Amino acid sequence: MSLPRLFQTLEYGPAPEGPKPAFDWLNQYQRTFGHFIGGEFHPSETTFASFNPATGEELAQIGQGTQAQVDQAVAAARAALPKWQALGAQKRARFLYALARGIQKHSRLFAVLETLDNGKPIRETRDLDIPLVARHFYHHAGWALAAEREFPGYEAAGVCGQIIPWNFPLLMLSWKIAPALAAGCTVVLKPAEFTSLTALRFAELCAEVGLPAGVVNIVTGDGSTGAALVEHPGVDKIAFTGSTEVGRILRRATAGTGKKLSLELGGKSPFIVFEDADLDSAVEGIVDAIWFNQGQVCCAGSRLLVQESIEERFLTKLKKRMETLRVGDPLDKAIDMGAIVDSVQLERIDELVAVGVSEGATKYQSPCELPSKGWFYPPTLLAPVEPSATVAQVEIFGPVLVAMPFRTPAEALEIANNTAYGLAASVWTENLGLAHQTAHQLKAGTVWINCTNLFDASSGFGGYRESGFGREGGQEGLLEYLKPNKQALAPLPVATPSECPEAIDRTHKLYIGGKQARPDSGYSLKICSHEIARANRKDLRNAVEAARNAQPGWQKSGAHARSQVLYYWAENLAAAAPMHVSPEEHHATIDALFEIAAWADKFEGRVHPVPMRGLVYAVPEPWGVVGVVCDDAEPLFGLVVPIAAAVAMGNAVVALGSEANPLPTAELYRILETSDVPGGVVNLLTGLRSEVVPSLADHDGIESVWCFDSGSVSDVETRAAGNLKAIWGLGRSPRGLDPRELLRRATQWKNVWTPYGE
Ligand code: NAD
Repeated sequence: MSLPRLFQTLEYGPAPEGPKPAFDWLNQYQRTFGHFIGGEFHPSETTFASFNPATGEELAQIGQGTQAQVDQAVAAARAALPKWQALGAQKRARFLYALARGIQKHSRLFAVLETLDNGKPIRETRDLDIPLVARHFYHHAGWALAAEREFPGYEAAGVCGQIIPWNFPLLMLSWKIAPALAAGCTVVLKPAEFTSLTALRFAELCAEVGLPAGVVNIVTGDGSTGAALVEHPGVDKIAFTGSTEVGRILRRATAGTGKKLSLELGGKSPFIVFEDADLDSAVEGIVDAIWFNQGQVCCAGSRLLVQESIEERFLTKLKKRMETLRVGDPLDKAIDMGAIVDSVQLERIDELVAVGVSEGATKYQSPCELPSKGWFYPPTLLAPVEPSATVAQVEIFGPVLVAMPFRTPAEALEIANNTAYGLAASVWTENLGLAHQTAHQLKAGTVWINCTNLFDASSGFGGYRESGFGREGGQEGLLEYLKPNKQALAPLPVATPSECPEAIDRTHKLYIGGKQARPDSGYSLKICSHEIARANRKDLRNAVEAARNAQPGWQKSGAHARSQVLYYWAENLAAAAPMHVSPEEHHATIDALFEIAAWADKFEGRVHPVPMRGLVYAVPEPWGVVGVVCDDAEPLFGLVVPIAAAVAMGNAVVALGSEANPLPTAELYRILETSDVPGGVVNLLTGLRSEVVPSLADHDGIESVWCFDSGSVSDVETRAAGNLKAIWGLGRSPRGLDPRELLRRATQWKNVWTPYGE
């Protein structure tokens, strides 16, 4: 083609990256891989094929990990744990630096291998995935050094089982392994069955840098290998990234085992374009939001919400841009979209798009040519769709955007939050106030303002609601691999049978929505001369409703106002006689309440130093409604202190008091009523745990449950899998714990990205 014609058409030819170094590496292993356990590779009895999605050709045979291999890997990680910790922060940090440098040194091989295995464009693996992997190891090398001073009173969680998906294979590995090693943990990681190759090359790198044997173990295989790891009694913490469906299975499998659990799950993230947005930038934003990595991104901006006044203009621009997108060989540096990871995924996308059309959406696809072999799908737009349509609710995990209009900012928020997920959101407007207000009101762990799909090791990433709990990256992410050490909790008093101080008969009620309420059943429990209300699930439902109604106003009231109410509450408790507990417990409760009041307006957010011209601020936000199940050893402290911490951060609470001594719960309303605690913010139930806890753990209106009764933890954790509540199963009163640990538990982090510039 002549040069002038080239300038006219702006056509360009292929610019493929050479795959030879990656094939040479595969051939070194005769294209057959085993498991990396205790610092070396062990052959696998059975293997399965891993394919190149761009050609459909087999790349290698991957080991199918068995129970025996998982046992062996967990034993290796356990044996390595004391030695890894004894090395000290300096030496551990150096290994993390060495891994970061190793990744940079071999970045081209990692990038090509990832592209061959996953089908994502080399442009993305080379310029985004692999540099971010290195950044994670560098950042966490720093944390290996800084963690001890930053988190006194905490220790490593122990042996970690880590399970990752196929969409960002090496990046997800780095999000898991880097913080674990920095915290002093050892790991057994299972890559996704479609994409194990870069994890195996990483295993080799661990050996190359001399990482002590057993600190990192990689066992490959499918879901059954993952299940063996999750159920292994030798594992102290499970970190999982994958689908919400499997996340639920893991929640149930780990219930009552004492294993720490973090879940990074799916999403259906809104991409909101207001009428005053820079529309051309927003169109480019969409390209990055939904066609990056073929849309196989947990936080893909897959739901486009566009203000009605600009809908037509915006969709016209978007379609025009879609015409220029190129789909093809992922090793070609000039393509926009590569291959879908597997034929199974391709079929799923196709099926869901057909459902969208059958439900009334019009399909628009980029008129691009697809390669004749391999698994490819064109950039697709379904518009308009109803907010309740299947394709607007279900995660498609492919290059499919669904669009719907809205009229007002309030309606945009309502549609945006109308999903079970809460992973991320993108907001496009030139109006600063509107941008921040929308970011504040969106139920999502990450909000990008006038940008999208940006990540950094210093900024925690993770979801609200059914997108999971826990964060990866930054301080919050590191804390997932730490736990308060034994000295952090004070010994509890030996429980003595409660005395019967009063001879007169009294009948106590429940406290719901700021009023005393008779129990629905009409039944009561006799404790000494007291008749204690016996709550049932209807009372629980009423309490949750009252809490949900009161919570937004309480959150809006602000930290200063909440702290004042807590001071007042502490003063009134101090003026009252001890409520059927020892004077020591009474005083300890008052002291802790004052301390929480003090922290209520000081537990604050941060600004992250990400490599972007802009600000990323992290804010701790309340869960919403927190359910509290109290223990018997400390019926006042174990009731008041958790409630205070939860409400200090803007939550409303439904608490079930101690079953053995419910008197403090039954009488606390008198203090609350005189302390300006708004009705519905604190709701108090008494009764039998067996009659209340199941409904409390099941209830979809409760976002988090704190279980201080050891006998209830397993049931609560199992049942909470329904709406994936975050559970704090401490199993005893939190006496002695730093109040900030309670406040941390009372919040989830939202990260808001705001770039500079016009
Ligand atoms: P998946 O849940 O099917 O599999 C994820 C991993 O879990 C794989 O390694 C798989 O082998 C393993 N697994 C499957 N069944 C298991 C079981 N019963 N016990 C233990 N392990 C089991 O998910 P996927 O299809 O690989 O990945 C796509 C999903 O991952 C999407 O829903 C996406 O949103 C989510 N994702 C979330 C994030 C995040 O940070 N929130 C990031 C990437 C992907």
